[in-house]
Amino acid sequence: MFLNELDQPINRIKGIGENTAKDLSNLGITKVKHLITHFPVRWEDRITIQTINRARVNGFINTKAQVIAHDFIGFGRKKTLKVIVQDKTGYLTLICFGRNFLESKLSIGTKLYIYGTNIQYKYSELQCSSFEFEEIKEDSEPQNFNKLLPIYSLSGKLTHNSLRKYIKSAITTYCIGLSNELPVNIQNKYKLCSKIEAVNSIHFPTNHQELEVAQNTLIFEELFHLQIVTGQKNIRGQKSVKDKRNLPTNLQERLISKLPFKLTPDQKSAITDVLIDMNSESKMNRLIQGDVGSGKTLVAILSALPIIEAGGQVALMAPTELLAKQHSEKAYELLHSIGVTTGFLSGNVKGKGRDTFLNELEKGNINLVVGTHALFTQDVKYKKLDLVIVDEQHRFGVNQRLSLINKGNNADILLMTATPIPRTLTLTVFGDLDVSNIKTMPKGRKTIETHLTRIGNENKVYDFLFNELSKGRQIYFVYPLIEQSEKIDLKDAESMLHHLMNIFKGYTLGLIHSKIPEEEKEQTMEKFSKGSIDILVATSVVEVGVDVPNATVMVIEHAERFGLSALHQLRGRVGRGEHQSYCFLIYSNILTDDGKKRLMIMKDVADGFEISKEDLKIRGPGDIVGVKQSGFMRFSIANLSRDIDILEKARDEAFKLLKEDPGLLNIENSKLRELHTNYPPFSSNYVSMG
Ligand code: ADP
Ligand code: MG
Repeated sequence: MFLNELDQPINRIKGIGENTAKDLSNLGITKVKHLITHFPVRWEDRITIQTINRARVNGFINTKAQVIAHDFIGFGRKKTLKVIVQDKTGYLTLICFGRNFLESKLSIGTKLYIYGTNIQYKYSELQCSSFEFEEIKEDSEPQNFNKLLPIYSLSGKLTHNSLRKYIKSAITTYCIGLSNELPVNIQNKYKLCSKIEAVNSIHFPTNHQELEVAQNTLIFEELFHLQIVTGQKNIRGQKSVKDKRNLPTNLQERLISKLPFKLTPDQKSAITDVLIDMNSESKMNRLIQGDVGSGKTLVAILSALPIIEAGGQVALMAPTELLAKQHSEKAYELLHSIGVTTGFLSGNVKGKGRDTFLNELEKGNINLVVGTHALFTQDVKYKKLDLVIVDEQHRFGVNQRLSLINKGNNADILLMTATPIPRTLTLTVFGDLDVSNIKTMPKGRKTIETHLTRIGNENKVYDFLFNELSKGRQIYFVYPLIEQSEKIDLKDAESMLHHLMNIFKGYTLGLIHSKIPEEEKEQTMEKFSKGSIDILVATSVVEVGVDVPNATVMVIEHAERFGLSALHQLRGRVGRGEHQSYCFLIYSNILTDDGKKRLMIMKDVADGFEISKEDLKIRGPGDIVGVKQSGFMRFSIANLSRDIDILEKARDEAFKLLKEDPGLLNIENSKLRELHTNYPPFSSNYVSMG
């Protein structure tokens, strides 16, 4: 029987009535299995004894002592019992606020276990008013002392003691026949314990070592299951055809020879990496990491060509319609003269046009299709989809990523990102992911000058902008809000458009934000691209991908409201051509510590990888790749920022096992197969493969 099979409702456990069940359900506990996997958040060390002279002010103490005197402070209703205890090193005064009834229980001479927190030194004595105790008895073990005491998250009227009791009862009643989920050889190799021991010791460890083994076992097991799941997906993704070996590269060469510039060394090596992957027997699963402006789009387009030349189709997916449109235009511009057909698809392509388009796609008459996630909706069929490219992949959820990979069946996958992904995440979310880095920037790029400007000093910035405009350059203004809000007092794009129109008389301004209809957005973007709009007033819709090399100034108002990666992406909209570029971060007077930190980092650091590292420090890893929202990281015990070592071992073992026994058919893997077939771990996190 697997732990995951313990589906009995919790009210089967002795002592759990309606009210308790409600409190438990607030913690997500409705079944026995939930109760058992409600692991402690920490353990209080009540094994290691400190003598009273070791107690520190504001600290805690776990000690054994004897009651030697009683005293009272205050009068009448405020009268409070003081119990003075002693060990061989000193005295401690227990202040019994509201607990005068303890007088008889703590009679003089009684020997106690004491656990106290928030120790104070007052009136020349060591005091503690927040303490637990138990009498030391010769013939019986204490309940909450002399052990590592589990501390849980609680809710409602639940107490630790009652929760401990329910969990204990659940374990003794239901866990007797619990199956081991890890193969025995792995258990032995890493000195792990059985599942039943692990479950018992994680809640009720008798010593530190036992706890550590239990934790290691459960963490290893969880990550091992995860890697079995990702590993199986990868194996299914082995290429079935070998006819891709030695793909032609004539089209690549033709395109490169037409470019007005040379590829950077890192662009070249990324393209080589991709080609090697494409020619190998196993599916490509590659991530290209390159800072904003490093030229990833071109790498994507060049990567598509060998596949197209060999008769396959390529889908390039971007996170916003604006960006998809821009890529589609760029692709057309670069490719139509070398005979490659391109197309654009989004949810807004509708009606007859859509039907015709889908028909052409299915017939294979379109070689490269660029679009939003609409590329992978049900009605879209490909003739021979051999490569899927995802731009700005960190913008997509795990589920979207999976549905696309499934559509592509055996297609190679190429992911592009400006936000480097920590290795922990590439291992877990993507399973097997190779990485190419583009570190060199195209020649002639100058570092963007970044200035911090306090609100109220905008006029100085405007003066500077007039100068840039007179040189024929273009400008972005970015605001945190689309329109005026009654709730927050922030500048918004709509009102500022009118304000700026008055200031920059004689220049053309455009407005772009997510509430503007797609068609209008495109027209505005097109005009800005061609230079007939001088100033683009926007929200963070222009954050990703937008590429207008003649724009040299990015002004972000209320910059303190934006996250680091957004700021970096926004700044990356300028500095894309030969001209010196500038970024003004206008901030308001009210700054949080994190806000201040972000602005200072933006001022001092240009390198996106460096900024990502800082971002990771401020935000934690879950946020970075949009994984947190998708629920993928809902581990019951593993923690990716802590357990990287275990993750790597679990991964090695899982992949080794799958290599030897891909179908989990060997007798010694039968339990594992049963588990993954009937009670698949992480199943709720994967979308169906349809
Ligand atoms: P990102 O990596 O942010 O997606 P893009 O692909 O949008 O960057 O490229 C930024 C700009 O640099 C584009 O205008 C592109 O045409 C240009 N570019 C790309 N590669 C080179 C190169 N090797 N030399 C000069 N300019 C380049
Ligand atoms: Mg890009």
